[in-house]
Amino acid sequence: MKLSVNALSCAFAMAMALSASVGRSAEHVPAMRSALSADSVNAALNDAYNKYKDIKEGANADYIPALAKVDSNIYGIVLVTVDGHVYSVGDITSEVSIQSISKVFTMAKVIEESGPDSVFNNMGVDATGQVFNSIVAIEQYKGAEMNPLVNAGAIATTSMVKGNNYKDIWGAILSYYSDFAGRDLKVLEDVYQSEADTNQRNQAIAHLMYAYGHIKDDPLQATDIYTRQCSVGVNAKDLALMAATLANGGTQPVSGKSLVSPENIPEILAVMATAGLYDDSGKWLYRTGLPAKSGVGGGIIAVSPGKFGIAVISPPLDTAGNSVRAQKAIADISNALGGNPFAATPKQ
Ligand code: GLN
Repeated sequence: MKLSVNALSCAFAMAMALSASVGRSAEHVPAMRSALSADSVNAALNDAYNKYKDIKEGANADYIPALAKVDSNIYGIVLVTVDGHVYSVGDITSEVSIQSISKVFTMAKVIEESGPDSVFNNMGVDATGQVFNSIVAIEQYKGAEMNPLVNAGAIATTSMVKGNNYKDIWGAILSYYSDFAGRDLKVLEDVYQSEADTNQRNQAIAHLMYAYGHIKDDPLQATDIYTRQCSVGVNAKDLALMAATLANGGTQPVSGKSLVSPENIPEILAVMATAGLYDDSGKWLYRTGLPAKSGVGGGIIAVSPGKFGIAVISPPLDTAGNSVRAQKAIADISNALGGNPFAATPKQ
């Protein structure tokens, strides 16, 4: 194949223009750093915590009534390195509902059970460019050409988890999530009830995915298990351990349990990179290079492969449904620690 010199020179010109105009080189530490020093991590966490603690932007999600009542001031940051060091600042004990971050771990379960092609061939692995509960995105390609991290793909992914009945499937999902967090997680029943009472849109999405053949069993059972998985309570430390497991080739860095085969990790991180922050995933990847996932409960996890997992909880969200403080804090911390997997220093 011949590459056009024009296209190449355009890309080069864009790179030149960016390095001249964006002026963010001082924030980016080259990615070649080996082990992270405790001092550098603590400094990065404290700086980001203090820089953003007083911002007032964003608002709690309220389309699930219970989420509107969550304390908007909860703000905690935890970073866990692949060798199991845990660093934190702020509130690391308050629990919020995991919401869409759960989609990553159900996707991991299905990929472990049925292989990476199972999701690739069912709902697909492409960003929709639409809001996370878009019905237009389903209609466009009859439920294909989307991914396991938007509601339609996620409910279909939940329907693919193996088990004989509701109880078996739900038990398997909850114990899988708990292994990532390293403790027994539980459903926040008030959140579950509130979403179950108001999730008619997700029920409609599941019926459409059933109609197009992407959900094989009872679509309402899949929706209910999905609603339950979204209501699991997590604190910032739980989420950071979950992210760090993905950063560490699928092995939980504190318990040493292998939860995802190392060969399945790249596919999981690829979908997080392209679709983890909904229709703002491109902006996020541009700024940080990090595979990540947000939830409307206010959490975001991000993964620097081979280095660390990080999580921030702060409930106020922007209009795309992503925590305002979490995006800012993770971007600063990762850039300060050389977390961007796309960054490389020239060989001397
Ligand atoms: N349970 C929520 C829903 O289905 C999850 C959405 C999210 O976190 N973006 O709407």
